[in-house]
Amino acid sequence: MLKQNEKLSLVIPVYNEEKMVAETVLKCREQLNSLGLDYEIIVVNDGSRDGTKASLAKVDSIKVLNNPYNIGYGASLKRGIKESSGAWVMIIDADSTYPIDKIPEFIRYAGEYDMVVGNRQHQRDHFGRKPAKWFLKKLASFLVGKTIPDLNSGMRIFRRSVADEFWHLFPSRFSFTSTITLACFSNDYFVKYVDIPYYKRVGKSGIKIRNFFDFISLIIRVIIYFKPLKMLSPVAAIFFIAGLVKLVKDFTINGYIGTLALLLILFAIQMFFMAVISEVIIKRQK
Ligand code: UDP
Ligand code: MG
Repeated sequence: MLKQNEKLSLVIPVYNEEKMVAETVLKCREQLNSLGLDYEIIVVNDGSRDGTKASLAKVDSIKVLNNPYNIGYGASLKRGIKESSGAWVMIIDADSTYPIDKIPEFIRYAGEYDMVVGNRQHQRDHFGRKPAKWFLKKLASFLVGKTIPDLNSGMRIFRRSVADEFWHLFPSRFSFTSTITLACFSNDYFVKYVDIPYYKRVGKSGIKIRNFFDFISLIIRVIIYFKPLKMLSPVAAIFFIAGLVKLVKDFTINGYIGTLALLLILFAIQMFFMAVISEVIIKRQK
């Protein structure tokens, strides 16, 4: 639970959500009022071209930030968070996919945990996406050393101080949510997952479906930033073993050691020491 004097900022990015935006805001407000919290609701209208702006004009006591043109989900979230003032930031979408009535449960865990994330159950995945998602979750979990049930859920609450710490890492398009998840786990912040249903969206998604390689590259970039040794030493080990195998083969079959074996081994050693140096640089910065 939040402390007495702690304010909550609810930030909702919206792009062409005329159907659901007003209802979403009103339902969120109902939940927050029932908790008797000090809160503010900030809606970032990300250059919508439908009736979103008009719908929002009918809702009072909210702060609406109108982006003159579309800048993307992550960038809109960043704008909303920057202009908010709460010690805690909660984010949710305005496409009616997330269970607004679960907000109190998230808030209950905030404080004991630094971030509380909705773990989306029964996501409707296209064929072929399930194994890809499974692999990405396993990879991310292996690299951070903890189980990550949902990497990029858009319903979550986190401390402002946590967002501030990783601010420079947040991308404008892909993916604010994955980045803050990986950053929190890599830096031993306490993360709580709450199981939530994930409903069918009303209206069309404004986010281009990201492919497997966008995810892989994001995971690698973020983890390399926090845990270079963990990321690079398995790669170095693979090169080292390959070199060693080649060396033994060369020696037993030909009676001399070829250049490739030496190159592989030297490359592995160099990579390993580069990772060690990166690790030292990170530790010194803290
Ligand atoms: N959104 C936004 N700017 C964009 C795209 C989306 O502010 O350029 C909003 C959108 O209205 C929604 C949230 O960000 O409230 C998540 O987007 P969406 O539901 O389209 O993404 P998905 O859930 O399909 O990944
Ligand atoms: Mg959505």
